[in-house]
Amino acid sequence: MSRRVRIATTSLAGCFGCHTSFLDMDERLLRLAGQVELDRSPLTDRKQIRHCDIGLIEGGLCNSENIELLRRFRACCTTLVALGACAVNGGIPALRNRYTLEECLREAYLEGAGIENPQIPDDPELPRLLENIHPIHELVTVDYSLPGCPPPADAIWALLQDLIAGREPVPPLELIRYD
Ligand code: SF4
Repeated sequence: MSRRVRIATTSLAGCFGCHTSFLDMDERLLRLAGQVELDRSPLTDRKQIRHCDIGLIEGGLCNSENIELLRRFRACCTTLVALGACAVNGGIPALRNRYTLEECLREAYLEGAGIENPQIPDDPELPRLLENIHPIHELVTVDYSLPGCPPPADAIWALLQDLIAGREPVPPLELIRYD
């Protein structure tokens, strides 16, 4: 019997909405559970990644921890998928790219509305923020991209079924969104 396809997922600078869309496959998740084995993922809470057939990346890059994790996924995953607008082009978090990092921090922690005890967090254990948000293809090679905020569950299902079957993924055009 052939082994199940091993999949890992993660969220970088994302909101977990793409993972929620993944779960919106509803009863098809039961069929998927018979096809795949979930490795590191917010859905399993497994912290270490082993070698995987498919890695699904939600979110772009906003800090040093994201960079380290994305490199680890690229090294461990045969096929890497940018899942959702944030991974594909930076998405909503990239709206901050119009401003400098210093301007963003001042607005968020010092000068914005309703701030009490203004102080910019500086704990050395916090990941270092990048000056800009970057889509993941700027750091690693991405094999497939599925845009949308989030991509519909049907599109994620179609993509996974193609990859699991060893087919070149061709998601139906009506499922591709650019919001
Ligand atoms: Fe959230 Fe949309 Fe980004 Fe997915 S693409 S992580 S749903 S903001």
